[in-house]
Amino acid sequence: VFQLSVPLNFLGSVYRELRQSLLDMETLFSLQKVNVTVKEVANPRPLSLTRGGEIRFENVHFGYNPNRPILKDLSMTIPAGKKVAIVGPSGCGKSTILRLLFRSYDVQSGRIFIDGQDIKEVSLESLRQSIGVVPQDTPLFNATIEHNIRYGRIDASSEDVKKAAQRARIHDHIERLPEGYNTKVGERGMMISGGEKQRLAVSRLLLKDPPLLFFDEATSALDTYTEQTVMQNINSILREKGRTSLFVAHRLRTIFDSDIIFVLRDGVVAEQGTHSELLEKKGLYAELWSAQEVTLGQDFELERSITDE
Ligand code: ATP
Repeated sequence: VFQLSVPLNFLGSVYRELRQSLLDMETLFSLQKVNVTVKEVANPRPLSLTRGGEIRFENVHFGYNPNRPILKDLSMTIPAGKKVAIVGPSGCGKSTILRLLFRSYDVQSGRIFIDGQDIKEVSLESLRQSIGVVPQDTPLFNATIEHNIRYGRIDASSEDVKKAAQRARIHDHIERLPEGYNTKVGERGMMISGGEKQRLAVSRLLLKDPPLLFFDEATSALDTYTEQTVMQNINSILREKGRTSLFVAHRLRTIFDSDIIFVLRDGVVAEQGTHSELLEKKGLYAELWSAQEVTLGQDFELERSITDE
C-alpha cells in the first residue's frame, strides 16, 4: 500500500524534509517488521501482562559495537502502572533502553523482564503489540490524516480517531484544514510542522492504547503551552488507565512530575528518585535542573517579548 519513492524533483529544505520522512518510514518498517539481529526462541509463548506491566533490567550490558559499551551492568525496576522518566547527558543511552525493550536489538548480557518474563523468551509479535512508541521523529505515510492516525489501530472508527486527535490537541487544527481529516500528508501531500507531526504520533498512540507506552522526546518540537496541554492530556489518560509509561526527555519540566526519575551516566543508573528527592541529593539531576531553569527563564522572556510586540 505504501509507496517509497525518491522525490528527486524537490530542492533545498523541502527535499531534505521529504528525504527525512522516507528515512523515518524505513526506520518504522525496520522497527516493526524486518529484524536481522533478533531471533525468537522455538515455540515462544505470548507475553502475558499479569502484573500490570512491570519492567526490570537486570545487569544489562549492551553496545551497538561490542567494543564500545553503552550500557554497563545496568539494573533498574520500573513499577507497573507508574510514570517513569529516563534522563541523562546526550548519548548516554536513553533511547537505546527503549530499543532494547522493543527488541530491536538484544542485550549482550544480563536480562530484561516484563512482568517476570524474559523478553527474549516471548513472541516478538506479542511483545511489540504490548508496546506503543512515540519516537523522536514520526514517520508519516503518504495518505490522509485520518489514515495516518488510524495506523495506530486499523479497525478504529472515525469517532475514535477524532477522540484521539482531541486528546493530542490536534483535532481543531485538522478541522480547520480545507479537507479536514481527508487532507493528504506525507511526502506527496501537505507538509506539516514538527509539532503537528508529534501530535499526530501521540494521537496514533492513544488510539492504539497499548499497555506499555514509551515516549522518546515526544513533545520536543512543541511550544511550551502546547507541550503542557498535550502532557496534561497524556498524564490524565495514564492515570485513568494505570498504564506503565517511560519518558525519555531533555526538557526536565516535561517529566519532573514522574513517579520515578532514573538518571543515567556512563552506562549505569547514577541516581534515582522523585524530582524533590533528586534535588535534595544535589547531584547530577540537580545540576541539569538548575542549568535548565536558567534557559527556561530565557524562554519565557523571549516568548513575552514576542507577544509584547
Ligand atoms: P540523546 O539524548 O542525544 O537522544 P541518548 O541518550 O538517547 O541520546 P542513544 O540514542 O541511546 O543516546 O545512543 C547512545 C549511544 O549509542 C550514542 O553514542 C549513539 O551515538 C550510539 N548509537 C545510537 N544508535 C546507534 C546505532 N544504530 N549504531 C551505532 N551506534 C549507535
